[in-house]
Amino acid sequence: MRKPVIAGNWKMYKSVAESVETALALKPLVANANHCEVVIAPVFTSLKTVADRLEGSNVKVAGQDCSTEMEYGAHTGEVTASQLRDVGCAFVIIGHSERRQFYCETDTFVSRKAQAALIAGLKVIMCVGETLEQREEGNAEAVVSGQLDGGLSGLTASDVARIIIAYEPVWAIGTGRTATPEQAQEMHAFIRRVFAQRQGEEAANGLRILYGGSVKPDNIAGLMKQPDIDGALVGGASLKADSFAEIVNYNRG
Ligand code: PEP
Repeated sequence: MRKPVIAGNWKMYKSVAESVETALALKPLVANANHCEVVIAPVFTSLKTVADRLEGSNVKVAGQDCSTEMEYGAHTGEVTASQLRDVGCAFVIIGHSERRQFYCETDTFVSRKAQAALIAGLKVIMCVGETLEQREEGNAEAVVSGQLDGGLSGLTASDVARIIIAYEPVWAIGTGRTATPEQAQEMHAFIRRVFAQRQGEEAANGLRILYGGSVKPDNIAGLMKQPDIDGALVGGASLKADSFAEIVNYNRG
């Protein structure tokens, strides 16, 4: 049985005070959400304060990125995975399409970051997904399987067990245009098949695959009904405690 994960990516939003305010408003609203893991990813500067204020609750904290480097060193602007652990993170998001698009992040970087994060004891949410152009050219599956192979290369079977994949079609991120549950299911099933070919059936059956791209309170239930959708990575709708809580507490009836 795969426990769903509902993760909120706050991107480059909120001051420390605003982050704490949202996190504390969220905490009681999702306190009974035992059906899933609840994760929020505030901006780096808010992580420590938010993690401290959420200690002992069921809301876990994630970094939005980490360095490929594992050791301290002269890498201006970078943050190691162990430094994320040190401030209370349990998860890290890696390979988000905004990092791939705007910061030239390659699959090699994604795989090195994943290795660094796993060694530091973090769970990894690794993002994959095609652009609209790639989908329209009929290349969506080739792009996604290439990202999976690149991102997972060099990882051992036990590493892979701590990886969560987030399928985020780039054309659905922040656009209000969500993939239909059927479109998302189709790609999630494909990802699981690719994973089974590379890592075996057992690993593939245990793999949690999140959907991301304009997830909102009114579309989460339909997405979660699909057999291969094991949660969501939520951007815009995670910035407000009440809308994110509605997504976490989606109708499971
Ligand atoms: C995201 O940033 O990962 C995301 C899915 O954003 P949104 O929900 O706003 O589309």
